[in-house]
This record gives sequence, C-alpha cells and structure tokens, in this order.
Amino acid sequence: MDTHTPSSGDRSDFIREIVADDLREGRISSVVTRFPPEPNGYLHIGHAKSICLNFGIASEFDGRCHLRFDDTNPTKEEQEYIDAIEADVRWLGFDWGEHLYFASDYFEQLYAWATGLVGAGKAYVDDLTADEIREHRGTLTEPGRDSAWRDRSVEENLDLFERMRAGEFPNGARVLRAKLDMTSGNINMRDPVLYRILHSAHPRTGDAWCIYPSYDFAHGQSDAIEGITHSICTLEFQDHRPLYDWFIDNLPVPSRPHQYEFARLNITHSVLSKRVLLRLVNEGHVRGWDDPRMPTISALRRRGFPAEGVRDFATMVGVARADSVVEVEMLEHAVRNVLNRDAQRRFAVLDPVKLVIENYPEGLVEQMDAPNNPEDPSAGTRAVPFTRELWIERDDFMEEPVKKFFRLSPGREVRLRSAYFVTCTEVVKDGDGRITELRCTYDPATRGGDSPDGRRPKATLHWLSAAHALPAEVRLYDHLFADPYPGSAGRDLFEDLNPESEVVLRGCFVEASLADVPVGQTVQFERLGYFCPDPDSAPGGLVFNRTLTLKDTWAKLQAQGRHDTP
Ligand code: ATP
Ligand code: MG
Repeated sequence: MDTHTPSSGDRSDFIREIVADDLREGRISSVVTRFPPEPNGYLHIGHAKSICLNFGIASEFDGRCHLRFDDTNPTKEEQEYIDAIEADVRWLGFDWGEHLYFASDYFEQLYAWATGLVGAGKAYVDDLTADEIREHRGTLTEPGRDSAWRDRSVEENLDLFERMRAGEFPNGARVLRAKLDMTSGNINMRDPVLYRILHSAHPRTGDAWCIYPSYDFAHGQSDAIEGITHSICTLEFQDHRPLYDWFIDNLPVPSRPHQYEFARLNITHSVLSKRVLLRLVNEGHVRGWDDPRMPTISALRRRGFPAEGVRDFATMVGVARADSVVEVEMLEHAVRNVLNRDAQRRFAVLDPVKLVIENYPEGLVEQMDAPNNPEDPSAGTRAVPFTRELWIERDDFMEEPVKKFFRLSPGREVRLRSAYFVTCTEVVKDGDGRITELRCTYDPATRGGDSPDGRRPKATLHWLSAAHALPAEVRLYDHLFADPYPGSAGRDLFEDLNPESEVVLRGCFVEASLADVPVGQTVQFERLGYFCPDPDSAPGGLVFNRTLTLKDTWAKLQAQGRHDTP
C-alpha cells in the first residue's frame, strides 16, 4: 500500500486556519458553512472538493453545514437536478440534517430588502435592454456610462418595481439595478442588476413570481439569513466580494458572513463545467449525466469509485489559493488504494478461449478454495467450481512465445490460480487458423496450486469452468478526452474526445457468484482490474463496468516530477 493517501484528521489549510482562529479569538461561537449549488446540472468532482471542504470543516470544528440550492434562475433549473444533487452529497457521506434550504425560500425577504434599497435611493428601475446595459457597462479598461433612467425619482422607482412584480411588463422590459458607480474599476460594482423579469414557472415557487433576484443579489443575503459564518467559494467570486459586502453594509441583514475564496479544481483529460457536461449529454456523446466516463459524482458512483476514495482525493489535493490542474491519475490512485484494500477478488475471462484437460475425469466438479482478498484474510475464501473444460484468456496463450512471454504455450506448464498446474499438449484451430481449443494435461498432485516437488511455473492464470461461468457484457472505460488539456492550443474541445473512451466487450464470462454482486459494489477481476455491475445489469444479461485497471500510473508520474499538485 502506498503512503500518499492521507489519514483524516491531520489536514490544515488557510481556510481551516482562519476558522480555527475565529473560534479561538471568540469572533464566532460556532462555525456554519454551506454548500450552495445551482440546480442546473449534475455535480462534478470539482463540486465534490467543495462539498468535502464545507462539510469537512463543519464536522472537524463541531459546527454545521447547510445544503442550500441557489435556485434563482428558473429557466435552467429542474427538480431532477435537485434530487440528483441531494443523492450525490449523501453518497459522498455527508449529512445536512435539518439544514436543507433554498434561496427561493427567501424571495419575499429579498424583495423587501430590494424595495428598501429603492426607498433609500440606492436602487433604480432601468428600461435599457440587456444589450444596451452591456454596452453601457464599459470594459476592463474603459469606464461605463450612466443609463438615462438612472435618476428616476424614488416614487417612480417604487411604483415601477412594484408593477414589475405584479407582472405588468414583459420579459426584459425593465430591470432593477443597484445605484453604485458606473466608473468603478470593478465591473461588478457598475450598477449590477438585482432583479429581472422572467415570466417562467419556478420548480418550487411555481407562478408566484415573475421577477427573480440575480445570483449576486441572492447569494450573500441568503448566507446572512442562515447565519453562515464562512462563505467559502471559488476564486471567480473574489471580484464580487466588494459587491456582497456592499449589500451586507446597506441592508438590515441578521448576520455578517465573510467570504473566502479558494482555487477551483481542474483535472486532466476532463472538463469541469456544467455547461460543457450538458452539451456532452444533449449531443449524445455519452450515455447520460451518469455515463461512467463523465466527471460527475453520479458517474463516478456508476463507474464503481467508492466515496471514500473520492474523499481521500479531495484531501490529497488540498485547498489552494492559486488555480492548478491535478492529474486524473491522482484521483485514480486514491480510488485504487481503497479498492485494493476492500475489493473482493473474483474470476472473469474477457476474451475467452477453451482449455480442455484431457486427463481430467469427465463430469467431475471439484470446488476450489479461492481467497476473497489476499490483503484481508478475514474476507475468507469462496468455492470456485473446476471441471474438465475451462475458459482462459486468449492472450494468456502464445503458440510461438516471444521472449519474456512466460504464460501458456505448447509444451509449457502454468499454474491455474487456486487449482492445478496444466501443460499444453495441443492447439486446435478452425478453418481460418483461429485457435478454438487448447488441449492440456494436469498434474493431480498440484491441487490448490502447489507442487509437492517444489516445481514453480512462471505464470499463474485465472480461469473459469465453462459449464458454470455466466456470460456477461463488459464495458471498458478510458478518458473521455484523449488530450490531458482538452481544447488547448486553440482546438475545439469536442475534437479532443477520445473515440476509444468506451469499448464494449460481449461474449465475456464471469464467475457465477458475480450475479449476486449489488450495483455500487466493486470487485477485482483477478489480473484484469476493478469492475462493478452497471445499473443496466440484469439477471440473464449481466453488464460490468471497468472501474480502473490495476496499474497505478500516478506514482510513476510523480517520480517523473510531472505532478503539479500543491
Ligand atoms: P460549473 O462552473 O461547473 O458550472 P458552478 O460553479 O456554476 O459550476 P455551482 O452550482 O454554482 O456550480 O457551484 C456550487 C459550489 O461548488 C460553488 O461554491 C462553487 O464555487 C463550487 N465549485 C464549482 N466548481 C468547482 C470546482 N471545479 N472546484 C471546486 N469547487 C467548485
Ligand atoms: Mg455557478
């Protein structure tokens, strides 16, 4: 086992230091964090990092973490996403208890606060179109320009805002904006939009509203309403912080959250953006949001990644202030560590060729004792039936073995795992020269896999009794994007899709006991990798996903100094 996976409890980072300090100095009595997804897509591994951070801090410091849906944009949000997000957070191992919230629960309060700003002359109704607003906003190097409607009277603004809410105006006719400073060096401070008209039903509030608060207006105030002490978010919101602080300073909010930004997680061979993931789904590049090649949490689960491995990965990447790209091999490494410890071993043959033992009695079935997990003797053993006709992997045989090929070939003896030594005596082919059968003899004195005379074959193969094995489909997965940095060097992102990211094998065979493995449990097919039943699997039509191969390439990348993790 590797020592790179951290044990929990010994982690620290700049955010945890701030929290510890705030508690020590008595600035807060207990820590309250939140994970605030917008329900406009499925969560991905980047969100998993944020979930582990927010829920992790709450539990380490004896505080609490809320799950709050930032559901302010009904045109993109759906109940399906809300349900999936809840399932994903739970699967990762976290519990929000009673603290499930929705920004939409605060619509009435937010509206009242916005009206307060209008009354105080700090917000106004603007009739510019979205395009005109953009045009007036200026750029990073040029100041913006005031709207012609900026100096409406308080009375007129109050009247118009009320009528916006009452549904008197069509989409886009008017917006409510904060009256800040169109020349500010920070574009977020150039009279940001607080409310827009959207005659759209909301998944939770139905038709109650036809104006909706902007994310910026809802986010910080929702934190204040919930008493969030540390609003942890990704770096792109750093420039929004002055605006959030302005709202908190200018509204009668019940508490004052403080925002801290950390670097987004990016991983190689992948794209962590709901917008892109939605396109992959809608354009049919994948089987759905939970396609095992996707970087979504539901996909990792379907692929057989244990939640513990994902949490360990989040700990390994840590929390940094500067953006970086983490190698996907590091995630795979964390997952392998868990699987190597926990996964039960089973036999499966993906590309079968028949092996017939000529001197083995016809009709005899012996039950061989095979260890379930060599890493964990307490996992016990299981009985695997052995008979005269077996399946082995086609590529475990070579008629004319090349140098360093030590597996089966004519005249050579190999060990069949937990069974007997066999020697190949004859190769049977069909008319096209394709091998159909390998005839062998076995040595009855080697039962269990050892020879009394100390003979030690150079290779040990896995096998299945042909009469007992079950047919299965096996789906092999590889990176969704062939290039480690999809869309780099000016390429179109979708050009980098890996055409071999999914290879479906039919005509495979698996140990009969694999029919009982539940979805969500990952086993090791000996010598082949980690696999788990897909939700598509059914009695009589077993389907397995390859979770990972056995080879850990991350340690190698590390040795080459190619990793750039903190
Ligand atoms: P995307 O950009 O993938 O569409 P998002 O940021 O729009 O995601 P939200 O639902 O707004 O998605 O995100 C919820 C929380 O998850 C936010 O606090 C956000 O900062 C955090 N988050 C999103 N992406 C990442 C990431 N790649 N790494 C770490 N945290 C992330
Ligand atoms: Mg977002």
